[in-house]
Amino acid sequence: MIPFIDLKTQYQALKPAIEERIKRVLEHGQYIMGPEVAELEERLAAYVGSRHCITVASGTEALLISLMALGIQPGDEIITTPFTFVATAEVIVLLGAKPVFVDVEPDTGNIDPRCIEAAITPKTRAIMPVSLYGQPADMDEIADIARRHGDIPVVEDAAQSFGAMYKERRSCNLSAIGCTSFFPSKPLGCYGDGGAIFTNDDAIAQACREIRVHGQSKRYIHTRVGVGGRMDTLQCAVVLAKLDRFEWEIGQRLAVGERYNRMFDNAGVARIVQRDDRSSVFAQYTVLLDNREQVQAALAAQQLPTAVHYPVPLDHQPAYRIHASAEGCPTALRLSQRVMSVPMGPDLAPEQQERIVAAVAAAVRS
Ligand SMILES: *Cc1c(COP(=O)(O)O)cnc(C)c1O
Repeated sequence: MIPFIDLKTQYQALKPAIEERIKRVLEHGQYIMGPEVAELEERLAAYVGSRHCITVASGTEALLISLMALGIQPGDEIITTPFTFVATAEVIVLLGAKPVFVDVEPDTGNIDPRCIEAAITPKTRAIMPVSLYGQPADMDEIADIARRHGDIPVVEDAAQSFGAMYKERRSCNLSAIGCTSFFPSKPLGCYGDGGAIFTNDDAIAQACREIRVHGQSKRYIHTRVGVGGRMDTLQCAVVLAKLDRFEWEIGQRLAVGERYNRMFDNAGVARIVQRDDRSSVFAQYTVLLDNREQVQAALAAQQLPTAVHYPVPLDHQPAYRIHASAEGCPTALRLSQRVMSVPMGPDLAPEQQERIVAAVAAAVRS
């Protein structure tokens, strides 16, 4: 059985470091805002190349706190993609703002910059591209559009792309704010929930730090409305231990993803593509099928797990379709019917990949 995401092999490789890091926290006992929190924030900011890193309780909380720091109000409009995990739009609606869904590119699944410009109105307060499956969107084109329309802040939902490069920069450092997630199955995961916000703007960073602890500027002085959004010390310790192997893992992710690309291309199976000027960390490796149900059933019969990210675009979800545009997002809808993700990770062996590709290719032809 090939696991869809293999966290056990990683744990075996890092066991002494992880256990030592956890033990140290148990011994000093500062479970909330202990020294590992600041240590991790420094390490991650240096890695990403941004001035500030603020760790938070999850990727969702990173997005929510970011929008709160930007002062998003009821009635504001935020342009985003419907082809993403629900959290991207959820935080917009939670603040009483309106998600404006625009369509995606057919080959990457990322938000299509050409659709963004047409959706801008005087109420647009932010643009939220998602670095889908681990690959950043066209961030320079999006930055140009944002600049031309009065410097609309861009918030990158980088929950799937920590470690990816865009031109010379790292994902999370490509716009006003970058948000990532340390959910266990993400490219850099902890052993529970966790996330982080990155920014080069001192005022936004300060706002995020305060909002993370109930809008507190000093102990029991609440300057603004905030949330309980801290990442706990134990989870920070786990991420710190995992950083020892992270560069190697990123290299492996690129190699495993490229090997899949060659294998699926040779087998004539369509897939999500990567642009030449950026990398994907392949949070998911995703192919495009016309008979997805049959392929999934055939692979399941061979103990090969698959998943669909995502089967229903957000503008078709019961809780979100009131925000759908009149013209809809036909490319996102078509992709949602065709995408299928296969096992992916730094420890996936070439022989395992061959087995998976052969099974997909056979099921596609049947
Ligand atoms: C995982 C994910 C999130 C949410 O992260 P959590 O840590 O699970 O809250 C948000 N956006 C995208 C695109 C994700 O993949």
